[in-house]
Amino acid sequence: MRIGEIIESRRPVFSVEFFPSKTDEGRRRLLETARELSALELDFVSVTYGAGGSTREGTVDITRALKEDLGLEVMAHLSCVGERREGLAATLDRLEELGIENIFALRGDPPRGETDFVQTEGGLGSAAELATFISENYDFAVGGACFPEVHPEAPDLDTDLTYLKTKVDAGADFLITQLFFDNRVYFDFVEAARAKGIEVPIIPGIIPVTGFAHTKRICALCDSSIPPGLESAMLAAEGDPEAEFNLGVAYAAQQSAELLAAGAPGIHFYALNKAPATRAVLGALRAARPWLAPHERAWTAGRDPVG
Ligand SMILES: Cc1cc2nc3c(=O)[nH]c(=O)nc-3n(C[C@H](O)[C@H](O)[C@H](O)COP(=O)(O)OP(=O)(O)OC[C@H]3O[C@@H](n4cnc5c(N)ncnc54)[C@H](O)[C@@H]3O)c2cc1C
Repeated sequence: MRIGEIIESRRPVFSVEFFPSKTDEGRRRLLETARELSALELDFVSVTYGAGGSTREGTVDITRALKEDLGLEVMAHLSCVGERREGLAATLDRLEELGIENIFALRGDPPRGETDFVQTEGGLGSAAELATFISENYDFAVGGACFPEVHPEAPDLDTDLTYLKTKVDAGADFLITQLFFDNRVYFDFVEAARAKGIEVPIIPGIIPVTGFAHTKRICALCDSSIPPGLESAMLAAEGDPEAEFNLGVAYAAQQSAELLAAGAPGIHFYALNKAPATRAVLGALRAARPWLAPHERAWTAGRDPVG
């Protein structure tokens, strides 16, 4: 099913992002994680895409396994990095043959060790160009990335939103955000996007912190900030892994609940191929249903919610 249609028909939508593993053991664990999380009725899962032959194969392989072996609705990521049009078309042809209906169109990050994105000769230079290429040649539903704290290469929010609009106009019919921890950032971003004429659903991307040092490294890589309150609470855990994990789960559950209560269309979890934290957060959300109005949430033992 196309993700735009899923969002329209089921609110909220819950999804999880996986990254292909380079080892057989990592692949096995990823599929085990997906199996565990699928018990919580995921609306879709997505598989990231890295530049280069083996990681590209990994995306197609994991996408196939999640769809065919686990019966999940899958979105494959695809990026322009290091690809000519023919290479992009070959990957899209294979995904089409597998019956995949959703593609997340990205420009992509430069390969490790390089700082600037360089357009491959005969390739494409932005996510908007990739979205156009897909829309003109295929029948996939297309999604795109957005950056509530502004993409690191953009000079300012307004310029970034101007380019984001070109991606939406090129066919991206939903957006997923980079991870963030301060909901004010998301609310302000959505308001600014709407003012720019970007009307498509914007799904917040949330990472349940399972280890603070690791999450800090991820945030540094993607320019996401950590609010002082969360940082000091994490520091108070004094490196105790269990305390950090519990705090991370509690924070992500509360953050997601506030987003959903305010009308966010769903939550996309950056689960880092591990089940426990996302499972706890998603389980809590499914139980508490913060997206419903308080009177719809009322519950007494043995009775369904009253309307
Ligand atoms: C949810 C999510 C999933 C991701 N998954 C992956 C993945 O699987 N693989 C991967 O490699 N990376 C992934 N990324 C990272 C992403 O590829 C990088 O952040 C990359 O730097 C930007 O990609 P984009 O698709 O947003 O690019 P674009 O939308 O092309 O934007 C990139 C930059 O160029 C600017 N820009 C856009 N168009 C123009 C133009 N015409 N002229 C001048 N400037 C322009 C934008 O403002 C922005 O600063 C993901 C990011 C997110 C948020």
